[in-house]
Amino acid sequence: MPNRERLFLTTDEALDAVRGDFAQYNSQLNLISVIWPMVFGDGAYVRQNAGRRSVWAKVSADSKLTPSSEHDLKQRILDRLVRLTPGPKQLARICSRVFGAHVTAGLGPEPGGSPGIWIDTKMNDFVCTQCGHCCLTLDYHDGCSVRDHQRWQDRGRADILDWVGVVRRHGEVTACRIWVVPGTNAFAETCPWLARPIGLNRYVCTIHDVRPTICRQYPGTRKHARMTGCGGA
Ligand code: SF4
Ligand code: SF4
Repeated sequence: MPNRERLFLTTDEALDAVRGDFAQYNSQLNLISVIWPMVFGDGAYVRQNAGRRSVWAKVSADSKLTPSSEHDLKQRILDRLVRLTPGPKQLARICSRVFGAHVTAGLGPEPGGSPGIWIDTKMNDFVCTQCGHCCLTLDYHDGCSVRDHQRWQDRGRADILDWVGVVRRHGEVTACRIWVVPGTNAFAETCPWLARPIGLNRYVCTIHDVRPTICRQYPGTRKHARMTGCGGA
């Protein structure tokens, strides 16, 4: 089982994770305001004008304050980070804000590991209340991996494989989608493995031991939980 409490990311992986976070979650202007000067330096700031619902930004003390948008500010942060590639310590400070977790600079776990960051996700003590929100509402259709498919094949789980749409190239499975109603190309309206036992005010996954990795890893962080409506704690 992967260590859910500490996660190592190389510099490139960390930048990809920041990109993924920005793409996944909107309404992050407060976060952007905090990391903007960390990325552009002293004198740079973002100003939100709540009354007029506008946002303005400066990239240095002597630059002009120009109108912008959350999307644009995120893109400019990413462009700057990719162009200047901050050192691990600065990247750790930025990622700490982005992921809402304790992040430190360090070397990867393998011998002679690459420089990067360690994220303390504090997910080992996360308690799922089995509210079912993630299974009922989140989009996981593209989250099934070829490795999941292989695992179900190895275990002879034809019942699960019946609900997996696959793309094959030269006979090899190269991509999978879940959950596809057997004999059709249509996604199931709800996950076929989600059940609500009579008399219980909670949901259960009837393939819990072999559920897809995306389900196993949800939520990845406390922020991920908070931003996607997870009722766990
Ligand atoms: S496979 Fe299990 S964990 Fe994943 S969505 Fe279905 S019920 Fe939820
Ligand atoms: S949304 Fe969170 S608390 Fe609810 S079932 Fe999913 S992981 Fe558990």
